[in-house]
Amino acid sequence: MPSKEVESFMSRINASWIGLRGLILIFVLLAVLATLCNSLFVAYGVQRDALVHSALEANRAYAFKVASSIDGFLRSVHERLSYSSQLIGREFLDRQLVKAEAIRLQTQDSELDTVLVVDAGGTILQSYPETPEIGTKISSGELLQALEQQRPMVSHAYMAGGKLIVFISQPIFSPTGLYLGMIGGAVQLEQRGVMYSLMGEHQLGGTFALVADDNRRILYHPEQQRIGESINFSATVDAALRGEHGHMQAINFQGVPMLSGYAQVFDAHWAVIAQQPRDEALAPLHKLMRDMLVKIVPAGAIGLLLILLGAMFITRPLRQLARSALDLSTPESNAQLTHIKAWYVEAAAIRQALLISVQLLQQKIVTLNQAADSDALTGLANRRAMDAALKALDEAGTPYAALALDIDRFKRVNDTFGHDIGDVALRHIAQIIAGCSRTGDLACRAGGEEFCLLLPDTSLESARDIAERIRSLIADTPIEPVGKLTISIGVACQGLDTPDAASILKRADERLYLAKQRGRNRVVAQD
Ligand code: GH3
Ligand code: MG
Ligand code: MG
Repeated sequence: MPSKEVESFMSRINASWIGLRGLILIFVLLAVLATLCNSLFVAYGVQRDALVHSALEANRAYAFKVASSIDGFLRSVHERLSYSSQLIGREFLDRQLVKAEAIRLQTQDSELDTVLVVDAGGTILQSYPETPEIGTKISSGELLQALEQQRPMVSHAYMAGGKLIVFISQPIFSPTGLYLGMIGGAVQLEQRGVMYSLMGEHQLGGTFALVADDNRRILYHPEQQRIGESINFSATVDAALRGEHGHMQAINFQGVPMLSGYAQVFDAHWAVIAQQPRDEALAPLHKLMRDMLVKIVPAGAIGLLLILLGAMFITRPLRQLARSALDLSTPESNAQLTHIKAWYVEAAAIRQALLISVQLLQQKIVTLNQAADSDALTGLANRRAMDAALKALDEAGTPYAALALDIDRFKRVNDTFGHDIGDVALRHIAQIIAGCSRTGDLACRAGGEEFCLLLPDTSLESARDIAERIRSLIADTPIEPVGKLTISIGVACQGLDTPDAASILKRADERLYLAKQRGRNRVVAQD
């Protein structure tokens, strides 16, 4: 195939088919992407589970710590109230003592907003800071319940004087065990008081805590306006109020997934919840994944470049072999194939197969060319080859002589011995003519029993000598069973009036005709 056609064929193939290089790139890219996605996915999953677990565990510990702190606070208030109740119990009728103790308690204990002493009948005996209610009966349900229970109590949260409070109380008994009333302190929840300081001490980044009483009323929340609100549905509050202590993932009332820890304040039956939005806990992981992706990009680009170079390196010999395979008939095919660097088994095997094909093809071409240029009967060059040789000589400007040879009375041979014996005689004479020619000469069968011998760089005299040698050799050589034959030869060479092949051959033919006329078995080299 001519090289232009090879180019256009290759470009048509390149346009409509995907190349091996493209395939390698696609498959390697897919494999790399799949591995990368898989690793990122697994890394993300493992890190996420670890982060969620550690956040849950931190929140559990936080809730437990806060609950313990509140427990400790309530216990210490109860202890102080207990001390006062024992003191007052011994001298209950000593109003001065009762008042002094109420003042001492309230002033020494900044957490207590108000200290109340109530007798068993519900009359307020003392209040500090003093209020007009002294001497009146208590009306609040929580205070009445505390009075009835006759035991250390922490009330539900309730509104009193426009404030949300809890009342911590201790019963007062006489030394003989007679129930005399109770002493207690109100802790105000909405102000930045004791609860705030208890929570604030343990505040962790991102996590916040809330405390609810067993009526599900919020006693503490970092957003102050939510204190006093009721929590209707909360699995974590439920679990803490059941006395459980642990962690769970739960959706809050706004539909936000939370990581929560929970614990109970045992003294007061309060629920402490420490929680953090799940997304917030996972934010560092998302940042980490983004950072990883950003760092992977340059490495990925280098990797892609290496893959591209590798694919080119692998496909290069195959592309060259494919290109060479399109045209194995040119003389350069062998050298082209030998120069291809087939560095791996498959390419080397294809190159070897192509080299063998090239050799076979070129041998075939040589055979066919020879057959096309030779005469089948005698093996001499045929008319076609002779014309080509004359053209080449003319084009090269090489001087030459031409001999026109014709067997004498050959018709008789055929008539006498038959056509086959005639062929045998023709072959013999052809061999003699070929045997008398030198390298570079061209002996041809011009047709029938006529021959032509082209003698490059040969003068007319030398050509005549050669013709004479041929003539005498034929005349002296008997051919079985025909006997001796003779030949007439006309000789011509380039001259002023015979400048080209046509004129030289014409002149040689004319001289052959002269030789026949002059009695045959002779050479004529001039008119
Ligand atoms: P001259 O040339 O001396 O004038 O006589 P001639 O008998 O050789 O001349 P002619 O041209 O009349 O006859 C040539 C004969 O050569 C005729 C033909 O039978 C024979 N001939 C031509 N080609 C072949 C061939 O291929 N094989 C055989 N056996 N004979 C052939
Ligand atoms: Mg003839
Ligand atoms: Mg003849």
